[in-house]
Amino acid sequence: MITPRIEINLRKIAHNAKTLKNLYGSKGIDIFSVTKVVCGNPKIAEIILKSGIHILADSRIVNIKKLRDAGIQAQFLLLRTIHSQAKDVVNYADISLNSEISIIKELSKFAIKQNTKHKIILMVELGDLREGIMPSDIETTVSEVTELKGVELIGIGTNLACFGGIKPNASKMKHLSSIAKNIEDKFKLKLEFVSGGNSANYDWFMSTKDVGEINNLRLGESIFLGCETLERKPIPGLFTDAFTLIAEVIESKIKPSLPYGDVYQDAFGNTPKFIDRGLIKRILLGVGLQDVLVSGLTPMLDIDILGASSDHIIVDAKQTDLKVGNFVKFKLNYGALLSAMTSPYIIKKYK
Ligand SMILES: *Cc1c(COP(=O)(O)O)cnc(C)c1O
Repeated sequence: MITPRIEINLRKIAHNAKTLKNLYGSKGIDIFSVTKVVCGNPKIAEIILKSGIHILADSRIVNIKKLRDAGIQAQFLLLRTIHSQAKDVVNYADISLNSEISIIKELSKFAIKQNTKHKIILMVELGDLREGIMPSDIETTVSEVTELKGVELIGIGTNLACFGGIKPNASKMKHLSSIAKNIEDKFKLKLEFVSGGNSANYDWFMSTKDVGEINNLRLGESIFLGCETLERKPIPGLFTDAFTLIAEVIESKIKPSLPYGDVYQDAFGNTPKFIDRGLIKRILLGVGLQDVLVSGLTPMLDIDILGASSDHIIVDAKQTDLKVGNFVKFKLNYGALLSAMTSPYIIKKYK
């Protein structure tokens, strides 16, 4: 079996999706499954839909288009909306997250041309400082949106713990709930979705007795990697090893631990520093930074990653007896998973 490859255990992903759906459902919260980290992979999407989740969310319209072209029957939500892509957004996404009125107007324009209504969820800024309308501007935006004939406001949402690392705690969630209530009262409309966040909302959910108006979360990482994302703690009952990267030993030799000669820059412009530990067993793996974010890999054997260049990972093989042709398995964090799934050089193998 050829390497480098990523092995994808569909049964474990399905288990995680089902378990999270039931867990969050126990307090009335429905979930969207976010497929961006797996690049809108149709096989994975299919198994998630079979697990009972009905709405798939992705940040990229090309991924949504790929899923539709593969015949995946679901509702699709776009997580990040780009003005110049408005026509495709209306054509391929049922719902999109938005925070700029000029983009919403463009969506409305194309929706009117297509004789449809595009559904939108307005994102509210609550302190993480990525996307979102400032709470003081929400009412103005809602009143502008309700004037537009091509779009329908179906919800509000917020996104935390992505850029600023801000925790979605009880006070943030209460704030979002109060904004939702206020919009419903003031504009006499019903918001179908009050979307409180992402995989980082787990602690809040477990500790709160009252979820308020929050009735939706958008989950990516916790479905795929089985953890929450404030501290990357495993969620009880979930698999954290649905994905495994498999690399192959292409050189195995006893060599010095200290490079010898005049020291200049390495392949990436850094001047490396090493400690002399005498002779060690060094192996090279046939996978590198052009394939995967090597800093996000954890070997499943007792070996140390010394570094990586575009096409190689350099390893201290320690007491292992790894030989040329042997396979080495790694667990992946979110960044490593994102890069491996995006890389055309990594073979995707389904189990
Ligand atoms: C990526 C993304 C998510 C999913 O985040 P996870 O941490 O993977 O659960 C949710 N919402 C938005 C807006 C996103 O961009």
